Amino acid sequence: MAWFKREEKGINTPTEQKKETPDGLWYKCPECKTVATMAEHKRLRYVCDHCGHHDRIDAADYFELLFDGGQFEELNADLTSGDPLHFVDTKAYPQRVATTEKNTGLKDAVRTAHGLSDGQPLVVAAMDFKFIGGSMGSVVGEKIARAIDYARQYRVPFLMISRSGGARMMEAGYSLMQMAKTSAKLALLAEAGVPYVSLLTDPTTGGVTASFAMLGDFNIAEPGALIGFAGPRVIKETIGKDLPKGFQSAEFVLEHGFLDFIVDRRELKRRLADLLHLLRPAPGAAAPVASATAAAPRRSSGKVR
Ligand SMILES: [Zn+2]
Repeated sequence: MAWFKREEKGINTPTEQKKETPDGLWYKCPECKTVATMAEHKRLRYVCDHCGHHDRIDAADYFELLFDGGQFEELNADLTSGDPLHFVDTKAYPQRVATTEKNTGLKDAVRTAHGLSDGQPLVVAAMDFKFIGGSMGSVVGEKIARAIDYARQYRVPFLMISRSGGARMMEAGYSLMQMAKTSAKLALLAEAGVPYVSLLTDPTTGGVTASFAMLGDFNIAEPGALIGFAGPRVIKETIGKDLPKGFQSAEFVLEHGFLDFIVDRRELKRRLADLLHLLRPAPGAAAPVASATAAAPRRSSGKVR
């Protein structure tokens, strides 16, 4: 097999002469290793056609997916973080924020917008994990609070899409206050009878899980999403026991009664439209519906009964 052997030594191809496939043309699923073109992957909403693995996507992708014709109006797009604690870790907090803004093109870890989804008005707040781990600082809390106010004022259903590592440690106590603030705003929304759907995506953890993410009239999740408060290592060390298989996956959390259902991203828009349609009184049917529900108990908390 002489032809198979490289007999001549020192054959080197300079880097600039090497031929490679351009970056971003192909996608390889991290779960099942199936390869697809990036265009196909995008068409399938970044879900693997073979095994259903849901790739993490950004707020911009959710807006495109949910809003009709990709048309929406962003709310409070220019809110940016201060540095109330003059926090410094490996670098100063304002410097970290500035670098992240430059690298991601985002102002903070959540974007809020309103528009039409399947012909119905909808307010959406969607988190961006690539902005400091989707951490909740005062800007995230404030933008969510204002989006809820908008939803309440115009009586438009509110959808929260969470993807977060939890509270932002560089804002410490100010971060934690956002939990109370967003929860209080959601209580007002529930009192006004405006529907709130919470979609938990991979990962939803920490102070986000402990506040607005779990307060939906419907709490739904993407398949395989990590959902929890503390990480498995911390829990294991605290309780001194091994954790069950699949612990903190959306499927496990559903089985234990914390979720209403799991939704494939490719079905999200349709399922959401159906759900919001059910929660809304039918037009023209106001009189009979009103008399039929007059004796029904009033909704007093964030949960639909
Ligand atoms: Zn796959």
